[in-house]
Amino acid sequence: MKRILIARSAGFCFGVKRAISIADETAGRDRGDPREPIHSLGPIIHNPQAVERLEKKGIRVVGSVEEITCGKAIIRSHGVTRSDRAALEKKRISIIDATCPFVTKAQDHARMLSREGYAVVVVGDPNHPEVKSIISYIEEGVPVCTSLDEIAGAKGARKAGVVAQTTQSFDNLMAFVAESMRRFAEVRVFNTICNATTLRQEESTGLAGKADAMFVLGGYNSANTRRLAEICAAINPRTHHIETEEEVTRSMVAGASVVGVTAGASTPQWIIDGLVERLKALWKGEEIEVSFYR
Ligand code: SF4
Repeated sequence: MKRILIARSAGFCFGVKRAISIADETAGRDRGDPREPIHSLGPIIHNPQAVERLEKKGIRVVGSVEEITCGKAIIRSHGVTRSDRAALEKKRISIIDATCPFVTKAQDHARMLSREGYAVVVVGDPNHPEVKSIISYIEEGVPVCTSLDEIAGAKGARKAGVVAQTTQSFDNLMAFVAESMRRFAEVRVFNTICNATTLRQEESTGLAGKADAMFVLGGYNSANTRRLAEICAAINPRTHHIETEEEVTRSMVAGASVVGVTAGASTPQWIIDGLVERLKALWKGEEIEVSFYR
């Protein structure tokens, strides 16, 4: 018998599901109205197939606010900087806000801390749009630290508040908290990590250890999918990172009885279903069981 085990957390997280349904709803309502073109400020998710589907529904991806002259702008799940939001408002563009509520919470904490006189420590990649959006909510003139060295060298401030990019690891957050406690007399910490990433990684590594061959589905441009593929490959050398079922070859599953399937937070369910159907077709005539892992 052949078994296909699918990680229960595979595919869209809460924030991405919400952003896609907001985009779908907007496209359904306003598509075809030339006075109301719909834009998304950057791709709504890092999945080329899903972005292509949204484009067919009339949602045009733009790289900056300057490219939008009228209509609507959808803000994706990891938010937008305060200055970009202000620029959209100034142009009287209707804003459709699909920022994940967990990201909004991190922005709110950063703003509140800076208003209450705390230096702000932001744990995360300073080049990531989510971190840029969090930092933009910190009041002007307030010290901001995004590295351990910056914390150690921070001048003036007596107290600091810590917030984290939602996809950071708990260990990294704790390293920043420890360094902050060495440098500042008072430290406030907001654990703004979202557990969607950790849960997915834990489930996928467990599954990779059980499977004869492992598939990780998701865009090659998706950082969380690439990371998932890396940690699965460390456990199971027969790990394949693919975008769609079209890439599956017979040799990838040769001799395998148990195949594991997981997917990044930006991979739509129809892509996961497509892989299952492809595996069933490859194993035609065999008894096949499809079930969830965990
Ligand atoms: S990973 Fe978490 S914070 Fe990020 S969009 Fe998904 S649910 Fe929101």
